[in-house]
Amino acid sequence: MTGKIALEEHFGSTEPDIVEQSATHFTADAWPAQRARLLDVHDQRLRMMDEGGIELSVLSLLSPGIQALWDPAVAVDWAHRLNDHAADQVARRPDRFAAFAALPMQDPDAAIAELRRCVLDLGFKGALVNGFSQIGAEDTAVYLDDPRYRPFWSAVQDLDVPLYLHPRDSLPSRGEIYEGHPWLLGSAWGFSVETGTHALRLMGSGLFDEFPRAQVILGHFGELLPFNIWRTDHRLEVAPRGIPALQPMAHYLRNNFHLTTSGNHRTPALLNALLEVGADRLMFATDYPFEAMRDATEWFDGLEINDADRAKISHENARRLLKLK
Ligand code: ZN
Repeated sequence: MTGKIALEEHFGSTEPDIVEQSATHFTADAWPAQRARLLDVHDQRLRMMDEGGIELSVLSLLSPGIQALWDPAVAVDWAHRLNDHAADQVARRPDRFAAFAALPMQDPDAAIAELRRCVLDLGFKGALVNGFSQIGAEDTAVYLDDPRYRPFWSAVQDLDVPLYLHPRDSLPSRGEIYEGHPWLLGSAWGFSVETGTHALRLMGSGLFDEFPRAQVILGHFGELLPFNIWRTDHRLEVAPRGIPALQPMAHYLRNNFHLTTSGNHRTPALLNALLEVGADRLMFATDYPFEAMRDATEWFDGLEINDADRAKISHENARRLLKLK
């Protein structure tokens, strides 16, 4: 089907040179082609969008991106330049591309200013943050439930734009469970555990009691959360352990989160997410170029779901959430 809007579509850049961050996810043989796909916007990417019926791709920087630049001054500078780069790409084909802002969470005030600049001046549709940020030293991890970010979340709610919480790996110093098993890291498993836990921290912190209109997008059908949310709430009822949140986790999942199909072309996973959060909170995404765009579009087009739900997931929900014309 045509008219799809794709929400997790990554790009890289050589100026400043951030594309090399992704080299670790590929073999030396595969990297040159992947690097080229990350740097390309208007050539091969656009052709594949045409072939797969994707009308609009919302571009976002690769992971961990700005979040790994632990010197706040560098993070602020690179975020500004990379957002300008994204804005230039969108300006060439505003009918086919939009963008999420990369944000220097190392400096919360600068992150607010950059979000406002990107949304209000450059027309970005929200932000994509790659999990925790390293701040001031390499071996640090600050999550978005940290009290220093409450003014940032206030800005997110006031601007009425979504924040896409995208995966990154745990720091080696905090990933004992992965030691000796490097295959568990990255998108095979570690990404979802790290990001799903981060999302639960946001819910449990009471963030959405303070900012009930804030909206977060999770990729990969919710980073394991739809499958386990009933059990999490069930056990928290028995042993709440001082959780600040006023509502069950499922309340926040159904009121403050949207989930995308990125990189998870699995119909039982979609049906589970559909039953937990409903068709109004699912959206299409591919995770290109870390996934093949064609795999995502062919799986989605072949799904046996009703036409109303297909339209919601493919474009209607995104159009409403991102306020697209
Ligand atoms: Zn991704």
